[in-house]
Amino acid sequence: MEHTKILLDENEMPTHWYNILADFPEPLAPPLNPATREPIKPSELEPIFAKELIKQEMSPERYIDIPQEILEIYKLWRPSPLHRAHRLEKVLGTPAKIYYKDESVSPAGSHKPNTAIAQAYYNMKEGTEKITTETGAGQWGSALSLSCNYFDIECKVFMVRSSFYQKPYRKSLINLWGASVIPSPSPETQFGRMILEKYPDTNGSLGIAISEAIEVAALNDNTKYALGSVLNHTCLHQTIVGLETQKQFEKTEDYPDIVIGCCGGGSNLAGVSLPYIRDNIAGKTDTRIIAVEPSACPSLTEGRFDYDFGDMAQMTPLLKMYTLGSEFIPPAIHAGGLRYHGASPIVSKLVADGMMEARSYHQVEIFDAAVTFARSEGIAPAPESAHAIKCAIDEALKCKETGEEKTILFNLSGHGHFDMASYDMYFSGKLTNE
Ligand SMILES: *Cc1c(COP(=O)(O)O)cnc(C)c1O
Repeated sequence: MEHTKILLDENEMPTHWYNILADFPEPLAPPLNPATREPIKPSELEPIFAKELIKQEMSPERYIDIPQEILEIYKLWRPSPLHRAHRLEKVLGTPAKIYYKDESVSPAGSHKPNTAIAQAYYNMKEGTEKITTETGAGQWGSALSLSCNYFDIECKVFMVRSSFYQKPYRKSLINLWGASVIPSPSPETQFGRMILEKYPDTNGSLGIAISEAIEVAALNDNTKYALGSVLNHTCLHQTIVGLETQKQFEKTEDYPDIVIGCCGGGSNLAGVSLPYIRDNIAGKTDTRIIAVEPSACPSLTEGRFDYDFGDMAQMTPLLKMYTLGSEFIPPAIHAGGLRYHGASPIVSKLVADGMMEARSYHQVEIFDAAVTFARSEGIAPAPESAHAIKCAIDEALKCKETGEEKTILFNLSGHGHFDMASYDMYFSGKLTNE
C-alpha cells in the first residue's frame, strides 16, 4: 500500500535546529546601526531581545541543540504529519507526486509556535516579565500568547487594525491563552498617536505595529520584544519543519525535486527549505526551491535588494533584504500574514544568489487553489498557505504536460478556520485581486 500519511514517533523528532549561516559560501550582510552604518553590536540589541536569541541570530554553529523544555512542549503536536496528496493528484490528473507538511496541527493552527515557544523559553530563562509584539492576521499573536502562557510571561499584542476587525476570533484566541491585544495604530504609543493623527482611517500595517511594540519594549525594563518572522533566529527555529520532512521521506521511496513555501517574512519557507538547501550547497542534491508571495505585496519579485528598516518608524537596525520600502502600506488582502514590506535576509540572499526562485499570484487564483485543495484533501487551508498550494498545483500540471513524475513538497503553513469571512467573500464573488 502506498503511503497517505507519513508519521514519526516522538523519539524520532529532531533534537537540534539547523543554522544555514554556517554553510553560506560568503557571510550574510550584517544588520547595520542606521546612525553609524556600522554593523550592530550584540549589546545594542539587548534592550529589545533576549541575549540567547541575539547569540543565535549571529551564531556560526551549524546545529543548535533544542533545550529539553522546548522539546517537551513541541511534543504536544510534533512531529507533524507529512501527507501524500493522492486525492489532489487524482483531481489534477498529474503523474507528479505531491506531498505536504501539515503545520496546521499546532494549537495555534500554524507553524508559528515553533519559534514562539523557543523565544518565550529563552526570555523566561533571562527573567523577562513581559513580551510585546505585533501581529498581522493574528497567527503570531496567538502563537506567542500560547507560548508566554507556558512560561508565565505577560504578553501584549499590537494587532494590525484591518485584521483586528476582520478576524475577531483570532483576537479571542489571543485572549484565551492570556495575552492582551489592541488594534494598531493605537493611542498607547507615541508612534501610534502620530500615525492616528496623520492617517486616521489607516488599515494599519505590520511595519506600524512593529514600531509600537518595539517602542514599549525599549522604554520598559524587563519588557522585551519578539518578532515572529524575518530574523535569522526565527528561520532557525522553523528548520525543525524541514528536518522532520527529511526523516519522513527516508520512510518512503521519494525525495523532493521541488520544495515550495509561501513567503511573508520568510520563516515557514526557510523552515521547510533550508535543510534541502544545505544538501544542495553540499553538492548532494539539486532540489528546486520556490518562494511564493502575493502580487499585492511582491517584495521578492518586485522589491529592491538593499538595506532597509524592518518597521515604519525606522527604529530597527537596517537589514539587507528585498524590500518594497518601510513606508509601504500593503492593501488589505486576505492573506494577512503575507502583508510585510520586506523578506528575511536569509531568504533574500538565497533569492539574490539564485539558490531559490520566487513567484507571485493574485488572491482570486489562490482561493481557487484553496478550494480545490479543501475539496480533495479535506483541510481548509489558510489563505497564506494557499499561495504554496497554487504553486504546487501549477508545477504538478506542468508535469502533466511533460509526463514527468516529479516529487513536489509544499509546506501547509496553517489552517484557515479563522478565515471563513474571506472564504465567504470568495464564494459570493466579492473577493477581488486588489
Ligand atoms: C504568518 C504566516 C505566514 C507567513 O509568515 P512567514 O514568516 O513568511 O512564514 C504564512 N502562513 C501562515 C499560516 C502564517 O500564519
